[in-house]
Amino acid sequence: MSFEKQWQDGVQEVSGAFGALSESDLQRLRARCDLLMERKRALQALTARLDPATHCAGCGGACCVAGKYHFARVDLLVYLAAGQPLFAPLFDNGLCPYLGESGCLMAPAFRPFNCITFNCELIEDLLDDEEVARFYRLERELRRNYGEIRSLFPGGSMDRALL
Ligand code: SF4
Repeated sequence: MSFEKQWQDGVQEVSGAFGALSESDLQRLRARCDLLMERKRALQALTARLDPATHCAGCGGACCVAGKYHFARVDLLVYLAAGQPLFAPLFDNGLCPYLGESGCLMAPAFRPFNCITFNCELIEDLLDDEEVARFYRLERELRRNYGEIRSLFPGGSMDRALL
C-alpha cells in the first residue's frame, strides 16, 4: 500500500475516533492538548536564543533529512483538537516527508515528540546546566502528556505512529 494511502487511512481512522468522543472527553482532550502544545513551545523557546537555524544550515539539518515517520496518532489528535488544518506530506522528497522547502511543515507546538525533544550535541553544548535540566524536565512532562492523551482512547488505539 502506498504511503499516501496509508496516510489517508490513518487520518480517517483517527478523525473517526476523535469525532466519536463524548463532550466530556473532548473537553479533557482539549485541555491535555493545550498543555502539550504549551510544553512544546517552552522546549522550542529554550533553544531559540541559540540561533538554531544557523547551526542547522551549517550541518544541513541532518536530523530532519534523516527523519522518518515520527508523526504519531496523538500528534494528529492535537491538530484536530486545535481545529488546525493538517499539512500535506511530501512522500516523494526522499527525506523526511514532513520536511518542506522552508523547513518542517509543522509549527513547533505541533511537532512530533522525537523531533521537539531532540537536540544534537552542537545545540546541547550551548545550553547551560540549568537549561539542560529544564529541557529534560519538560521532556519528561511531555512524555506524560502523550500518555494522558492516549489514555482517553481504549485498546491502545492511539499508541503508534500514523504511518
Ligand atoms: S517531522 Fe519535522 S522536525 Fe521532525 S524530522 Fe521531519 S521535518 Fe524534521
